[in-house]
Amino acid sequence: MTTLIALNRKAVEFTSKPLKMFIGGKWVDAISGKRTEIRNPATGELITTAAEGDKEDVDRAVAAARKAFEEGPWPKMKPNERARLILKLADLIEENAEELAHLDTLDYGQPVSLTIGFAAAAANNFRYYAGWATKITGETIPSSTPGNIFNYTIREPIGVCAGIVPWNAPLMNAIMKVSAPLAVGNTVIVKPSEETPISLLRFAELVQEAGFPDGVVNIVTGYGPTVGSALASHTDVDKIAFTGSTITGRQIIQNSASNIKKVTLELGGKSAHIIFADADYETALANAANSIFFNSGQVCFAGSRLFVEGKIYDRFLADLADYSKNYKVGNGFDKETVIGPLISAKQKKRVLNYLEIGQKEGAEVVIGGDATETDLANGHFVKPTVLANVHNEMRIAREEIFGPVVGAMPFNDIDEVIKQANDTVYGLGGGICTTDLRKAHKVAHVLRTGNVWINTYNITEPGSPFGGYKQSGLGRENGAASIDAYTEIKNVWVNLD
Ligand code: NAD
Repeated sequence: MTTLIALNRKAVEFTSKPLKMFIGGKWVDAISGKRTEIRNPATGELITTAAEGDKEDVDRAVAAARKAFEEGPWPKMKPNERARLILKLADLIEENAEELAHLDTLDYGQPVSLTIGFAAAAANNFRYYAGWATKITGETIPSSTPGNIFNYTIREPIGVCAGIVPWNAPLMNAIMKVSAPLAVGNTVIVKPSEETPISLLRFAELVQEAGFPDGVVNIVTGYGPTVGSALASHTDVDKIAFTGSTITGRQIIQNSASNIKKVTLELGGKSAHIIFADADYETALANAANSIFFNSGQVCFAGSRLFVEGKIYDRFLADLADYSKNYKVGNGFDKETVIGPLISAKQKKRVLNYLEIGQKEGAEVVIGGDATETDLANGHFVKPTVLANVHNEMRIAREEIFGPVVGAMPFNDIDEVIKQANDTVYGLGGGICTTDLRKAHKVAHVLRTGNVWINTYNITEPGSPFGGYKQSGLGRENGAASIDAYTEIKNVWVNLD
């Protein structure tokens, strides 16, 4: 039986009107007057419409953010005052967590149990960076220059920082482009995905309610080739932080050359998850399933290449199939749902296409392998899928599928599996399951990836640097790395004589 969670009353209210953009402290329509339809991926139903911004709207937002940076109180405010406002925003996120979670579930389909966790994580992220506001310091440098020289550094905000984010965790992805830059005194403009702008616009109301000065936070909605590209090439944007596909990341780098913007990129992945025969079997099963099926596999660090030691390979795959069989695929408002829909018909088609390619290349379906029949005929559902007989050279093992599809490969030798795990253009995540501590650390040290999980998976925290080696990214987010990414260092030399 299906028990649907009732949509939060304030979420109903918020989506009952056409959504505007938030620029310079005001709610505005796109200059062109254009609008984009926002649909529920579980049902195909229209939720609301959002203003479809364009280059002129980006110009307005950049002007507002620049004014707030040059003339407004924000960068000059005492750090403890900035921290106080950020903490107030965190409290407001927490107070409205259910509404924000429901808006995300409505907009990108994943279960409320997951989106409520993301809303809590968003509040935590702001609290973590509020703590940094009062701890950003320079250093004194002992000088070897003749004379009496005092040499020191100051950290200063960069200026106007733009963030461009995808749809796979709409609120969480976006606030990572807001919390650290605000803590150090920058002003920000965020472009959500054209598919999922809703929760971020509600968040902007909370920014207003907390009392942030006008223009400190701006949200421009619209498409990538128009709004995104205008932000990346705008000569009055000082820094751009992008989360999305590697292909778009390349364009961001090219466009940001206009004024040599500071750039950080969080891109795609094809992460290896290595299961050794000596692993705690039940933990390894749960980790293997979670690492690929969480968020319907729409996760940049998903463990999409599963390497299982030969002697347990057949049994492990059969048990993984059994384990995944119990996952309920369906509407995110159904309490039983573990796996929601993919974001769009386009994404579903892409994933199904990869399943076809994989089978043509010789992969065998252990479980799943096609679209799911649910009572929601217009939802974009794909069954959790385990593919066997996969080789690391196949397209399904090399290209990011971004769906609930894992390709399994047996291995018999530790050096061989390390070589295969690293044989990819990506380098975002990696998982290791073993009870042998020495083996775990040995493998962790040689994986060419920004994140490694041992006997666990999917954990991130605001204090831990997150990002990718190779074509998975540029720079790191979270922790002190974000403070570095959002500050300039000024070196001051003083002749004391
Ligand atoms: P995408 O690159 O198509 O779009 C991401 C964002 O960029 C959207 O807001 C989009 O409108 C915008 N965009 C598109 N074209 C643009 C352009 N020419 N200039 C500027 N902006 C443009 O990615 P997607 O399909 O929305 O998201 C999935 C991808 O995101 C996957 O590759 C996934 O691995 C990656 N991702 C990475 C991380 C990470 O932290 N490394 C996290 C989540 C998702």
